[in-house]
Amino acid sequence: MLDKRKFYIDGKWISPSKPNDLEVINPSTEEAFATISLGSKEDTNSAVSAAKKALVNWSESSKEDRINLLEKLLDIYKKRYSEMTEAISMEMGAPMDWSNDAQTSSGQSHLEDFIVRLKEFKFDEQFSPESNNRICYEPIGVCGLITPWNWPINQIALKVVPAFATGCTMIHKPSEIAPMSAMLFAEMIDEAGFPAGVFNLVNGDGAGVGTDISTHPDIDLVSFTGSTRAGKLILKNGAETIKRVCLELGGKGGNIVFADSYPNAVRDGIRNVMSNSGQSCDAPTRMLVEKSIYERAVKEAAEEANLIKVDHASKKGDHIGPVVSRVQYDKIISLIQSGIDEGATLAAGGPELPNGMNKGYFIKPTIFTDVTNDMRVAKEEIFGPVLSIIPFETEEEAIKIVNETEYGLGNYLQTEDKEKAKRVSKKLKAGTIYVNGNGADPGTPFGGYKQSGNGREGGIWGLHEFLEVKTITYWPK
Ligand code: NAD
Repeated sequence: MLDKRKFYIDGKWISPSKPNDLEVINPSTEEAFATISLGSKEDTNSAVSAAKKALVNWSESSKEDRINLLEKLLDIYKKRYSEMTEAISMEMGAPMDWSNDAQTSSGQSHLEDFIVRLKEFKFDEQFSPESNNRICYEPIGVCGLITPWNWPINQIALKVVPAFATGCTMIHKPSEIAPMSAMLFAEMIDEAGFPAGVFNLVNGDGAGVGTDISTHPDIDLVSFTGSTRAGKLILKNGAETIKRVCLELGGKGGNIVFADSYPNAVRDGIRNVMSNSGQSCDAPTRMLVEKSIYERAVKEAAEEANLIKVDHASKKGDHIGPVVSRVQYDKIISLIQSGIDEGATLAAGGPELPNGMNKGYFIKPTIFTDVTNDMRVAKEEIFGPVLSIIPFETEEEAIKIVNETEYGLGNYLQTEDKEKAKRVSKKLKAGTIYVNGNGADPGTPFGGYKQSGNGREGGIWGLHEFLEVKTITYWPK
C-alpha cells in the first residue's frame, strides 16, 4: 500500500493539519493500493498563503525564466513518462497502451504547445502604430485549480502549465478518486525547481477543499473541469468575491452520420465513444443516422461494439478498461436499465457484467437503437461505454436534434459533401465540431457552449484565461 498522505505546500511535502485518510481504489480489482489524505480548511489556507507570498516575485519573473523552467519540466516529464502511464492506469483504469498513447501523451503535448505559445506571446504591446496607448497583460494572481479523474493529466496540464506561463501562482486540488498522476506531476514540478509556493497541491473532496478553494477570499481565479452539477456550485461560491470562474463541464455530443459519409464512419463513431470506456466529456454519445442507411448502420454499430474487448487496465492491448468507481458503475448500469425501461432497443451489450468478469467495474460496450431524444439515455451524460442511435430524415431535423440538449461541448458530422459539411458545422452549437474524423490541432481552443461551460483551454486562449488586461493611456514611443 502506497503512503501518499502528504501535501505539497510552499516547496515541501508536509503532513495534513489533521489526519483524514482516504483509500485510492484500483477499478480493475476493486482493491485499495494507496492512501491519501483529505485536506481541511487549514491545509487550503496554508497553500493559499504560500501562493500569495510567492506571487510577489513570480508575477515579476521574466518570460525567459518561465520558459526555462517549463522546458526543464518537459524534460523531466519525458524522463518519467512511463511512471505517469502507470499512475493513470492504476488510478482510473486506462489500459496501459491507451494510458501511454492517449492519456500520458496529452500532458506532454500541452507542455510542448504552451512553451511555443509563451515564446510567441507579447505581454506588452502598443495598441496601434498611431496610438500612445499601451495594452499590458498581467497575471491574474493566485489560482485555484480543480480537476477531474477521466483525463487526469490532460486537465492538469491545461491549467497548471498556462498558470505557470503567465506568472500566476496556484493551489491544485486533483480528483480524490484519481490523485496519483497529480502527485507525480507535483514531484516533477519540485524536481524542475520552480520557486517555493508557486505551485501547491492539497488533496481533498468537493465538499471540503473544493469548496474552500471556490470561496477563498485570496483566490483570484478558479479554473474547474468536472460535472455541470459541481460547476454551478463553484460559480455560486465564487460570486461573493467576484472571482473569475472558468468552467469546463459535461457534454452529450451528437454525431450526424449522413448517407454520403465515408465508409467507416459508423464503426469509427463506435470506437470513439467506447475509448476511455466512454469517460470523455466530448464523446459522441448520440449517433444520428440518416434513414436511408439506418439498417446498415445499426448492424455495423452492433458488430463493432461486440468486437471491443473489455479487460484489466494493467494489460497491454487495444481493449477498454473498467469505469472509474463503484459510484460511476452503479450510475451507468441504472441508465442502461432506464434505456430498456423507456423502450429503446438494446442492440449490443446490456447491464450484465462482461463474460468471465466477476470483479472490477467492467461494463459491456452497449448500443441502443430507435432512441428518441427525450429518453434519459439521450439526454443525460452517462459517462460510460453507452451509445444511443437516433434516426433522422432531413439535414434540418438532424441539426435540431443535435442542438436540443443543455450541453454544447463537442459535436461531430460525417459527410463527403464539402458544402454540406461547412453549412452544418456552422449551425451546430458546440465549442468544437469534429468533421469526418479529423482531430483538433494542438493549440486550438477547447471549451463549451451552454451548460458545457464558459472557458476555453489550450493555445493562446488558455493563456488569456489566466491574464488580466490593462490599458495605459500614455506610453510615448
Ligand atoms: P466532479 O464534478 O464530480 O468532480 C470534478 C472535481 O471537482 C473533483 O476534483 C471533485 O473533487 C471536485 N468537486 C466536486 N464537487 C465540488 C464542489 N461542490 N466544489 C468544488 N469542487 C468540487 O466530476 P468528475 O466525476 O470528477 O468528472 C467527470 C465530469 O467532468 C464529467 O461531467 C465530464 O464531462 C467533465 N469533464 C469535462 C471536461 C471539459 O473539458 N469540458 C473534461 C473532462 C471532464
